[in-house]
Formats: sequence, C-alpha cells, structure tokens
Amino acid sequence: MSITISELDPDRTVVVATGNAHKVIEIEAILSPAMPGVRFVALGELGDFPDPVEDGETFFDNALIKARAAQAETGLLMAVADDSGLCVDALDGAPGIFSARWAGEHGNDAANNEKLMEQMADVPDERRTARFHSSVVLVRGDEVLRGDGDCEGMVGWQPRGDGGFGYDPLFLPNETPGRTMAELSLDEKNLISHRFHALEDLAAKL
Ligand code: IMP
Repeated sequence: MSITISELDPDRTVVVATGNAHKVIEIEAILSPAMPGVRFVALGELGDFPDPVEDGETFFDNALIKARAAQAETGLLMAVADDSGLCVDALDGAPGIFSARWAGEHGNDAANNEKLMEQMADVPDERRTARFHSSVVLVRGDEVLRGDGDCEGMVGWQPRGDGGFGYDPLFLPNETPGRTMAELSLDEKNLISHRFHALEDLAAKL
C-alpha cells in the first residue's frame, strides 16, 4: 500500500480494480485523454482488499462485480474493471468466463493450455476459430458505462512464443498471420487486443 485514500480527491480519482500493473498502464493510456484531470490509481496501491466472488454469468457481470467492489471498498466515486477470456467456437464458447480456472487451479496457464490442446486434438483447421473477448466497465456513482472488444483468431496446434500470458501461445490472431499472440511484442499485442478494442469502445462513450 503506498497511497492513502484520504489524500485523493474522491470525485477525480478512478480506482482500477486489477492486480496487473500492465493493465493499469493500458487502461490509463486509453481512458485518460477522455477524462482530463482524473487520476488513475491501482486498487492494490490503496490497501489489501479481498477479491470479490466473480459469480456472474457473463464477462460484463464479472467486470461490474469487480468495479462495484472497488468502489465500495475505497469510497471513491469512480472505478474501472475488466474481465476477459477465450471463447472457442468448436467448444461452444468454452472456456469463456472460466478461462482463468478452466483446468482447476486459478491462473495455471500451463494446465489450461494443455487442456485446450487436448480438447482441440481432433478439431480440423477450418473449425479452430476462436476469439478473445473483453468487457470493461466504468462505474461513476450509480452510472455504469461499458465497453466490449474482441480479437478474432484460431487455436494453434502447439504452443509457440514466450510473450504475453494465458492462452497467448496457442492463439493465432487473424491480424498477425502465422504468429501466435505470444510471438508478438507487447506494443503489437496492445494494438490488436480484445482489451484495447474494449477500452476504445468505452472511451468513445465518455
Ligand atoms: P482476465 O479477466 O483478464 O484476468 O483474464 C482471465 C483469463 O482469461 C486469464 O487468466 C487468461 O487465461 C485468459 N486471458 C484473458 N486475456 C488474455 C490475453 O490477452 N491473452 C491470453 N489469455 C488471456
């Protein structure tokens, strides 16, 4: 914890409900031009708050649960949160909202990718279509603003690349033919990612 909530202007601060420092930077970079004079602060800088139970049925529901929890915990007017995951057509949209914990333990990327390879073992190239989806929610008092974005692509046969996280080594975005998301630089990924598109969608509504 490095910032005291009482130091902040409660009406001109957005608390960003994520533990991922890269996401805070990405969110601030895209939303701040539309919110002049507003400071973006990561929830973790304000204290050690319990994670809310993400029991929604959609990405939007879970992003809203996280944003509302951050708003309530800090007493600040504005909070932003995102929720994202991989939706595979041949698996009827799975893993979807269960992406982080699909293979059991939360955030076990290696186990999740093993499971994805297993489930897709007999699926031919033309049926390996998938997309990453992201929903971003900004709450401002009682108001709820949302942005949604996709990154379309295919599930690969073997993991490739060291960058990114999650399912990146097995996901080939349509916009970067022949390369997995894990083979892109962070800047390249940020220009085509589902989160980027969701944040742009939200920024257009501010
Ligand atoms: P989160 O909601 O952004 O924390 O994402 C939930 C889960 O979806 C992650 O644990 C990953 O398994 C997957 N996921 C979300 N975004 C990405 C991405 O950009 N690349 C790879 N996997 C992702």
